[in-house]
Amino acid sequence: MFEYAPAPESRDVVDIKPSYGLFIGGEFTDGTGTPFKTVNPASEEVLSEVASASADDVDRAVRAAREAFGTWSAMPGSERAKYLFRIARIIQERSRELAVLESLDNGKPIRESRDVDLPLVAAHFFYYAGWADKLSYAGYGPSPRPLGVAGQVIPWNFPLLMLAWKIAPALACGNTVVLKPAETTPLTALLFAEICRQADLPPGVVNIVTGAGETGAALVNHPDVDKVAFTGSTEVGRLIARSVAGTRKKVTLELGGKAANIVFDDAALDQAVEGVVNGIFFNQGHVCCAGSRLLVQESIAEELLEALKRRLATLRLGDPLDKNTDIGAINSAAQLAKIRELSDHGELEGAERWSPACALPERGFWFPPTIFTGVAQSHRIAREEVFGPVLSVLTFRTPAEAVEKANNTPYGLSAGVWTEKGSRILWMADRLRAGVVWANTFNRFDPTSPFGGYKESGYGREGGRHGLEAYLDV
Ligand code: NAP
Ligand code: MG
Repeated sequence: MFEYAPAPESRDVVDIKPSYGLFIGGEFTDGTGTPFKTVNPASEEVLSEVASASADDVDRAVRAAREAFGTWSAMPGSERAKYLFRIARIIQERSRELAVLESLDNGKPIRESRDVDLPLVAAHFFYYAGWADKLSYAGYGPSPRPLGVAGQVIPWNFPLLMLAWKIAPALACGNTVVLKPAETTPLTALLFAEICRQADLPPGVVNIVTGAGETGAALVNHPDVDKVAFTGSTEVGRLIARSVAGTRKKVTLELGGKAANIVFDDAALDQAVEGVVNGIFFNQGHVCCAGSRLLVQESIAEELLEALKRRLATLRLGDPLDKNTDIGAINSAAQLAKIRELSDHGELEGAERWSPACALPERGFWFPPTIFTGVAQSHRIAREEVFGPVLSVLTFRTPAEAVEKANNTPYGLSAGVWTEKGSRILWMADRLRAGVVWANTFNRFDPTSPFGGYKESGYGREGGRHGLEAYLDV
């Protein structure tokens, strides 16, 4: 066995303060809630203490955003674009610092935060900066108007990327924002607040309120918020939809998923194996659009599974800051408990569980890459979102059966199709009820491409020209 020497990225590039306040009206201020700690999930080391925003603090933030809205929305688009371009460039300049901080707070491998998250974050700001002075040509009328103050709540799986998906289009369209990052991953959002100051963004255009679910609820329910943008679980999405029903607030919800990754017998097998691995083990499977259900054509099931297991045995799990690491830490003890519970249930229901030999570090939250075979459609591991490195394998015989099984889920965020035949790709894409259908690839993101779901995966689109609609009064 080829041994790798440790290749850790230095954490000296980031300066984590012992405590952080809220970012309101361009200033860091204390919160009146009880501060909470954020930990490094790979070591359980406390990284910092972070202020918690009470309903009063949220109110201050919304008022700051309202005050800034007048001048920000009246500014010519070309001027707003300058700020967004500046933010994008600073993100690129400080990308190493941001990537290390993201990996420390979230547990994701540095290879991913450095090579996927950060380039996409910068690309998102560049892309929407380009739209700021071209909104009249976006297809939403001659001079579309912004909505006002956007209240935005995001999850912990892609902390900075979800922030970019929310803030970049909102600002480009002339809105101001109050954003709540997830409780377990607040640090890159707070560094982003510093970047807003560095870019001389007018005070109040971006406000960051840290805290738990209650802070999110206070923001969503604030009467002076014009637009709610939420990414997170379907459960909380439902609560939010209920609470804003009957108000004037415009809402977009990006929720859970249980995507099928469908491999036909004519697919290039080695490529498909890489795609399956990337589909479910990227970011420890903490991906809403993860290919968590592998649907493989019966005639190649055995061969594919063998190749998949061989490949999984080479994945390296451990220190997220090591540049050779493929699989990092599970983000929190709570998420680890949820993954364990669903996996144990899979075994109880009669599916067969397999993981490669894989030593787990003693401290921190870890779960080995896991495959379930002999999975029935009724099993919880085939129906519920595990949001962890757990793959359920099912088989099919005909394309029609593949479509039926793939669509047999309350979700509809994404799907993957692996085949040599172009006509089959189009035939499948027409029938799959999923917001994104990838062909011979998986988990590909691009700021120009809209993303969003069908059914219980939510409504509204983020990214691309379509993503502007959510922030314009159309
Ligand atoms: P979550 O519990 O719904 O949390 C998401 C965010 O909402 C967090 O900031 C959370 O705060 C906050 N929150 C909790 N309760 C709230 C309430 N009553 N009102 C307002 N905000 C509230 O989801 P999660 O477990 O962190 O994230 C994983 C989920 O997100 C998965 O289901 C995944 O599929 C989904 N996701 C979807 C997409 C997409 O684009 N469709 C992308 C990424 C993730 P706390 O941090 O304090 O809990
Ligand atoms: Mg953390």
